[in-house]
Amino acid sequence: MNIEEISEKLAWLPGPATRFIEKRMKKIPAIKKLLDEENAKTMQVLEHSLKPYAGKYEKYPKLPSSGLSHEKILAEMQSMHDLETVKWREGYVSGGIYHGDQEHINFLNKVYALQSQSNPLHTDLFPSATKFEAEIVSMVATIHGKGTAGHNANVCGTVTSGGTESILVAMKTYRDRARELKGITEPEMILPLTAHVAFDKASQYFNIKQVKIPFTGDYKVDVNLVRKAVNNNTVVIVGSAPSFPHGTIDAIQELSEIALKNGIGFHTDCCLGGFIVPFAEKLGYKVPVVDFRLPGVTSMSVDTHKYGYAAKGTSVVLYRDEELRHFQFYTSTDWPGGLYMSPTLAGSRPGALSAACWAALLSVGEEGYLKATKAIFETADKIRAGIQTIPEIKILGSSFWIFALSSDSLNIYEVLEQMTQRHWSLNGLHKPACFHIALTLRHTQPGVAERFIQDLKDSVAYVKANPGNKDGLAPVYGLAASLPFRGIISDILKKYLDVVYKV
Ligand SMILES: *Cc1c(COP(=O)(O)O)cnc(C)c1O
Repeated sequence: MNIEEISEKLAWLPGPATRFIEKRMKKIPAIKKLLDEENAKTMQVLEHSLKPYAGKYEKYPKLPSSGLSHEKILAEMQSMHDLETVKWREGYVSGGIYHGDQEHINFLNKVYALQSQSNPLHTDLFPSATKFEAEIVSMVATIHGKGTAGHNANVCGTVTSGGTESILVAMKTYRDRARELKGITEPEMILPLTAHVAFDKASQYFNIKQVKIPFTGDYKVDVNLVRKAVNNNTVVIVGSAPSFPHGTIDAIQELSEIALKNGIGFHTDCCLGGFIVPFAEKLGYKVPVVDFRLPGVTSMSVDTHKYGYAAKGTSVVLYRDEELRHFQFYTSTDWPGGLYMSPTLAGSRPGALSAACWAALLSVGEEGYLKATKAIFETADKIRAGIQTIPEIKILGSSFWIFALSSDSLNIYEVLEQMTQRHWSLNGLHKPACFHIALTLRHTQPGVAERFIQDLKDSVAYVKANPGNKDGLAPVYGLAASLPFRGIISDILKKYLDVVYKV
């Protein structure tokens, strides 16, 4: 019997029973051996794909005894860069690199070089960093309704290192506010099952219980179940605009009204949509309002390093007012190192990334974001129409520019594997089984949409003719989706990270 057969036999067990059995099972030598063997096989596949440079480039497991020349280091890096650029430049990648035009990259690189020594922690040394960050927050807040009505004149925020940090600090903020103002010691957050995994991370890091709410047939969170889940320990409700997996926008207005009525926070996770949704609205597309124009929305996360076209490493977290933002800030009054205050998780921070973000916002401008959104939506129309001509493939939910694809008749992971064989780098998802493509400016280049549809047609035809092909990662996805033992999967993921850090 192999792991897949065992998991099929045990799939009917309830969660706690499964976890109990799993713990016992892992102690049985025969089972442990089986698992170790499966793991070793999986790791071999992974190591091969994670470490393609083994044998091609010299390894440096320890410091060279004397420093290498700049030329040698740069030559090696240039060579890796050249290998790694091809795929995303030509538009084979879902998400990942959101702008990618060489002129834009060159400009950001110049800005980075100018500011590479900057650290916003040292406000006295780098007033430029302070200016850049204050203006980034204000520009992003204005995109999301700052000042459009009396009740949202004071929208404020901070720059963070990415969407995950924006979400982490926002959840910490609600936890601390509820403890301070309401004496809540066992805080809970209510969130869609499809909300980004960063909320799960926040729950683990900050000890906030999660109440996960399933989605309805349209892949939006079930609003009625959210309403029922509110209790005296609820500190925040979360909605995505849109969600990472299926690209659908939750019913933010209704959800935020529930929060408003109950006197609790509401967070719109607009990491993915922050620079698309408001511009799509201006262009006349039928997208819902998801920002501070809704009186119940008290915070948002908006990723400048996605569709804001900044370099990787910046995001913005926004709050309705400064009073709420205070619960995010860290201060120390008694440390022998002096009086200390810091807005976010990190201490010292890369000021150059904020500078590059500021420069990206200024150089693209409102017109640039409108143009980019229009191009992405037009490409999305083409791709949606193309997918609809393939009877074996369906799009999950009603999304705008992110398409999650599944199939009733084929193993969708085998289709994904065929797309990978055709050079695509797409995101495999589960529960339900599907994969997605998040469209970026890279896909608006001539011919890319057509190539995607043709490759998808070819992949579907191949899987139809050759079902059950066990190549690549398809069996891993299949196993991860079906295995009831989540602890075993978690062990595999930790081993994956071990492989990442293997020299
Ligand atoms: C990308 C994303 C995040 C945060 O991801 P980071 O990788 O930390 O920037 C959060 N929510 C959604 C919906 C996202 O797409």
